[in-house]
Amino acid sequence: MTLAIVGAMHEEMAALLPVLGGPRRTTRRGGREFHHGEIAGQPVIVVRCGIGKVAAAATAAILLDAFDVPAVLFTGVAGGLGERVRVGDVVVGDSFLQHDMDASPLFPRWEVPLSGRARFDADAAWSERLAHASRTVLSAPPAALQDFSPRRPQVHRGLVISGDRFVATAAESDRLRRDLPDALAVEMEGAAVAQVCHDFGRPFAVARTVSDRADDAAHVDFSRFVSQVAAEYSRAIVLALLGAT
Ligand code: SAH
Repeated sequence: MTLAIVGAMHEEMAALLPVLGGPRRTTRRGGREFHHGEIAGQPVIVVRCGIGKVAAAATAAILLDAFDVPAVLFTGVAGGLGERVRVGDVVVGDSFLQHDMDASPLFPRWEVPLSGRARFDADAAWSERLAHASRTVLSAPPAALQDFSPRRPQVHRGLVISGDRFVATAAESDRLRRDLPDALAVEMEGAAVAQVCHDFGRPFAVARTVSDRADDAAHVDFSRFVSQVAAEYSRAIVLALLGAT
């Protein structure tokens, strides 16, 4: 079975492609490059989906339909919203919601119209494996993390919210926290992948390293974190997940 490993950004792909072994080939569909190969003997397809919900949904649909992958695993970065969720921590999403979905008063706020639900659950078994891999990685965190936070990074499990906005003001993250008090992190793709995988009846799981606090300093923290640490996290978590470390 060929697992799909998806990231949103160039930096994450640049970290994953060098560990892709076995007979490698690249196929193109929908303007995306799908890299086929093996990691630790496990057949995988590694792909950069691009940023935002539409890009993520389109990529997930191609993976599930054209390549018939049995599961979609997503690795990337996110803004921390939960009080204890700090830069360098990892959030494994148990459920996903689109914070910018609002067809009220026709449907309750956040509900995906005609689906009857606002929250889409990740696969419990894959999420547990991702959380375990993340804990292994965080027990010896990347050295570059020291520049960001001296404290020991942690793995959190819970609600991740997605929308087509880079949340980069304290006013907006306060509003999200007020509206959705149990949200641990905010990003731009997870809930879209969740909805598509739900439609296909296939499991998915997401691990997000916290790059910023979605506040007024988010754009500075995000850029530094992505260039210095994020790629190392993605690679280490995927390798730990597939048993290569
Ligand atoms: N300039 C960047 C744009 C990245 S957008 C580039 O060209 O690569 C931010 C990405 O990181 C998205 O994929 C999103 O899922 C995640 N992310 C990290 N912090 C975020 C935040 N505070 N709000 C929303 N998304 C965030």
